[in-house]
Amino acid sequence: MSELPTILRIAIPRPLYSLFDYLYQGKQTPQIGCRVHVPFGNTQITGIIIAINSESEHASLRPIHKLLDEKPLFDQSTLHLLTWASQYYHHPLGNVLQNAIPVALRGTRQVPLNTHWFSNDKDTATAENNISTLLARSPKQQKIYRAIADTPSGLSENALKTRFGAGWRSVIKQLEKKKLIHQQEASIHFPTSDNAIQRDETITLTNEQRDCVESIIDIADDERPQPILLHGVTGSGKTEVYFRTIEPVLRQQKQVLILVPEIGLTPQLLTRFNKRFPHYQIGILHSGLTMIERMQAWLGAQRGHTHILIGTRSAIFTPMPLLGLLIIDEEHDSSLKQQEGFRYHARDLAVKRCYDLKIPMIMGTATPSIESLHNVDLERYHYLRLNKRPGTRLQPTLSLQDIRGLPLQAGVSQPLMEKVKAHLESGNQVMLFLNRRGFAPAIYCPQCGWHAQCPHCETNMTYHAKKQRLMCHHCDFNKPIDNHCPDCHFSHITTKGQGTERIENVLQGYFPDTTIIRIDRDTISHKGALLEKLAIINQGKPALIIGTQMLAKGHDFPNLTLVGILDVDQSLFSTDFRAQERLAQLVIQVAGRAGRADKKGHVILQSCQPEHPFFTILFTQGYLAIVEQSLRERKTWHFPPHAYQALIRATAEKQQHALTFLQTLKTSIEEHQSTDVTFLGPAPSVLEKRANRYRVQLLITAVKRGKLHQLAHLLVEQAGKTKKTGKVRWSIDIDPIDYG
Ligand code: ADP
Ligand code: ZN
Ligand code: ZN
Repeated sequence: MSELPTILRIAIPRPLYSLFDYLYQGKQTPQIGCRVHVPFGNTQITGIIIAINSESEHASLRPIHKLLDEKPLFDQSTLHLLTWASQYYHHPLGNVLQNAIPVALRGTRQVPLNTHWFSNDKDTATAENNISTLLARSPKQQKIYRAIADTPSGLSENALKTRFGAGWRSVIKQLEKKKLIHQQEASIHFPTSDNAIQRDETITLTNEQRDCVESIIDIADDERPQPILLHGVTGSGKTEVYFRTIEPVLRQQKQVLILVPEIGLTPQLLTRFNKRFPHYQIGILHSGLTMIERMQAWLGAQRGHTHILIGTRSAIFTPMPLLGLLIIDEEHDSSLKQQEGFRYHARDLAVKRCYDLKIPMIMGTATPSIESLHNVDLERYHYLRLNKRPGTRLQPTLSLQDIRGLPLQAGVSQPLMEKVKAHLESGNQVMLFLNRRGFAPAIYCPQCGWHAQCPHCETNMTYHAKKQRLMCHHCDFNKPIDNHCPDCHFSHITTKGQGTERIENVLQGYFPDTTIIRIDRDTISHKGALLEKLAIINQGKPALIIGTQMLAKGHDFPNLTLVGILDVDQSLFSTDFRAQERLAQLVIQVAGRAGRADKKGHVILQSCQPEHPFFTILFTQGYLAIVEQSLRERKTWHFPPHAYQALIRATAEKQQHALTFLQTLKTSIEEHQSTDVTFLGPAPSVLEKRANRYRVQLLITAVKRGKLHQLAHLLVEQAGKTKKTGKVRWSIDIDPIDYG
């Protein structure tokens, strides 16, 4: 009897919805979740083993080129999550898997060992002795050596870097030379000593915090713990609640995963974690790391060496064999949704992951998303509240400035300007908030009406004064400014509207001696720049801070006493049904930056629509009342979360090609349409043209999720078969949050 062949079913990182069978003839045993290098067309490509069979429906199979891994990169449960995500989001599995692998491992690189630095002396007495003799004259070496000696599981290079900053490597070299430390492969090891967790003795939990912690620990014991929505006002001490619930999980030798918005992953946050859990391995994953650092952080968690992993959106895919708790900070934040390529929502995947693993999940925020609150109503999530800030800290007051008929200086009304002055003069910080960067969003000719438009997009160009350029915020195109109108040659073209750069200019004129700190995408080109600016703000000296949305998240500004929000009106009349929810979140979050110490904060919203019910409801009844109203409206109009949506986008160099493509798709599923499904489009997107491509879209809304998925499935199948005239590109977005 001849031996059965080994046939590997491989997911290939290509936009293809099928898997591919290959023949395996090697000696080493292949496992599901390992990478393989295979021939594909006339190239070689790295894919992942999804199944191992002994037969295939295809007659002639190509042999694989090489089995790249001895041990799987993905364990069964992570693979299950990724497969589920591929089906839910109708995105090819090969691409989903590739998205989940650190860039450094997407090719054929061998998986490296995960090494840590260990002390040569295990007991503390010898370590202390070394410090007082060998390291007597070098406090820096003492510090790092003590940290390593105190951590029985050793310290990874990433951990050393995040804890001790630049220069750690030369210290390590010296310690190695003195034969005090060595490097070896890490192992799974949880610290057990009493001092591995260092509580802040100055903090006594408030009653609310204690109740929350107890409830969470109770829920964690459930057979299948429901996700927990922790709705805590800004400054209510959510982090302390996270800490207390992390403690028992670590003691049970389980890993913890924490997802935060990109901008929330600050050195302050890491310092807090390192201080609290000094002997645990804390890994971080975010876009500011090098390819190798990301790989190491990923491998540390994947092998169970890292106890706490803090990361942004994509960290949700990191395999963690001992995962025992998942926390999402700022669950309402839109950065949790990936908006291109594989369009997934990290929160929703987290819910699925925790459900499968039967582990608790905490979603913390001061402004829960409407989707999550709806899930609370449906009793799918537990709901816990923190209504107060600890101690005597006050919540800021919200008020409205009616700007009808008032002259504005760079968008700032006279009454607000006077308040800015008063707050600065009494030594405080002031923040002005406008969601538009650049100097002016439009530039035009007052004589003939010409507007500067991007030649590649259907949009105005923004004037940037410092660079003296016109820039398109949708593509990379920019050009020097010319004062002459290209149409009528009039020599005084003018700007229209405000951006953060203009406010900075104008206000610097008003307050020549005040430090002005502008935070937007133009002044923050890299993560370090943001940290520098935050450090200046944190010195607490009087300053005027001007910024965009970037500023709304999670940062503590103790000396900030006045916040002005300049452009609320455009959200009140937006066609996006989520605009008011976002505005309410923004107001509450921005307000949360102010008055966190013992100084009371004031938030002023400028508006030409002061009688709009949004303000009355938000000011007198609060955030949840806005949510309730919005939920009622969405029920009437069949909008999410009372219905489910998929957005199909198509782009092409000619609008007609994209329209025809979507029309064909729509026709192909029209026979499946029923009264509980509506199609909107195909129609041009709000931004009709971007980077020389026309954009059109088709929105499907269904009352039942099952129906939506049935249609999405048919559409995707159809899209593969449909002829694409003129290089049409298309994508599908399940549960879209951006319709632009
Ligand atoms: P948020 O809920 O906005 O995440 P934080 O967790 O950042 O709030 O807490 C805000 C501040 O309150 C922090 O400086 C924290 O140390 C402090 N804090 C938290 N709990 C207590 C407490 N029970 N007593 C005193 N201070 C506390
Ligand atoms: Zn002109
Ligand atoms: Zn452009």
